[in-house]
Amino acid sequence: MPRAMADRSEREFDRARTVIPGGVNSPVRAMQAIGRNPIFIKSGSGAEIEDIDGNTYVDYVCSWGPLIAGHAHPEVIESVTAAAADGTSFGAPTEAETDLAEEIVQRVPAAEMVRMVNSGTEAAMSALRLARGATGRDKVLKFAGAYHGHVDALLAQAGSGLATAAVPASPGVTEGQAADTVIVPWNSEEQVEEAVAEHGAELAAIVAEPIPANMGVVPPNKGFLELLRELSTSCGALLVFDEVITGFRVARGGAQELYDVTPDLVVLGKVIGGGVPAAAYAGRSDLMCQLAPEGDVYQAGTLSGNPLAVAAGLATLKLLDEGAYEQLGRYTDRLAQGLAAAALSAGVPVYVASSTGLLTVFFSSQPVHDYEGASSCRLENFAEFCRALQDRGIYAPPSQFEAWFPSLAHGEKELERTLEAAEHAFEAVA
Ligand code: PMP
Repeated sequence: MPRAMADRSEREFDRARTVIPGGVNSPVRAMQAIGRNPIFIKSGSGAEIEDIDGNTYVDYVCSWGPLIAGHAHPEVIESVTAAAADGTSFGAPTEAETDLAEEIVQRVPAAEMVRMVNSGTEAAMSALRLARGATGRDKVLKFAGAYHGHVDALLAQAGSGLATAAVPASPGVTEGQAADTVIVPWNSEEQVEEAVAEHGAELAAIVAEPIPANMGVVPPNKGFLELLRELSTSCGALLVFDEVITGFRVARGGAQELYDVTPDLVVLGKVIGGGVPAAAYAGRSDLMCQLAPEGDVYQAGTLSGNPLAVAAGLATLKLLDEGAYEQLGRYTDRLAQGLAAAALSAGVPVYVASSTGLLTVFFSSQPVHDYEGASSCRLENFAEFCRALQDRGIYAPPSQFEAWFPSLAHGEKELERTLEAAEHAFEAVA
């Protein structure tokens, strides 16, 4: 099947490249990993997006996670519109900010108090500062292939766009910043125990995505999160779960609820802003009260708790009751099973990993448990698969190291369209 018409997207990409580095405002949008130029989007509704050439796609990027209710959900749009009509920003407290904080405290086990910020990066950076301030220690333990935003100290062996572009770390990160980061392979009990034995007394935090989704989706082995909890407590480091992706997605209270392991601090983003920029960090009151103006760990933000973002977040969370997670879980399971079956019948060895609302098709014959496993996938096969899906109207994340994000707007029709396209796409790879 020929590639969908892309004349206008190509022209717009040429125009964008002259004034925006690489033509995009975030690297993975560039689609370099699948050898394509980006598709410029005009609009979205429910599970579907339309590009500026008039092609439509079932969208599994969904803005990389925030749109758990789908595009332009009427209740979200109504709330944001009403908030905008009352003024877009005040730089003073509003009642809705407390409503959102209460909703988060009610849902997320670790959250006794919440501070709103504007992006996941800012939330991770701020949580790290708080962990360092509270413990008086400098070092941080993170996992290879985990991504916590483009925070200097956490960029080493990070997943997401860095994994996609095979960048081990970034120029511009000082040696001092990198020296404070200890990196361990995900799911390796032995190596995390060794690292804590060696550096435990200097560790401010163990930072983990409880279900990593930036090296593709790589759930924790049984007992691994419990081990992280035990080790953090025993060495006096804080356990920080980065639930920017998993928060409000894999369960009402995030992965910490699903696995019943409570961290000291939690980093939240994406769904919390319902598609408008917002993020937060939250945790034990005695820690959160060390933030200014209550305490002396400084962090601030002109647009933090922005009325539009808070309105979108509250409207989105209102849609996320237990029934919503059952629905999303069922869709994810059927999608995962359907994709695995399509690959099998085409004779393409893949490993499909999933959790409610998250999925990755690894082009690997082996189960993937860590970054090394994800990095050994057949990336050319992945690229071909992804291009073939695109040509049949399925917009999947254009990187082996990212998750698919099904939403509540994905139903029978989308499942059928996706699996039919996938059969052809796997045949193209075989
Ligand atoms: N943490 C995780 C787990 C993420 O997946 C991301 C972004 N995908 C971030 C932090 C950074 O969030 P943002 O892009 O909003 O800065």
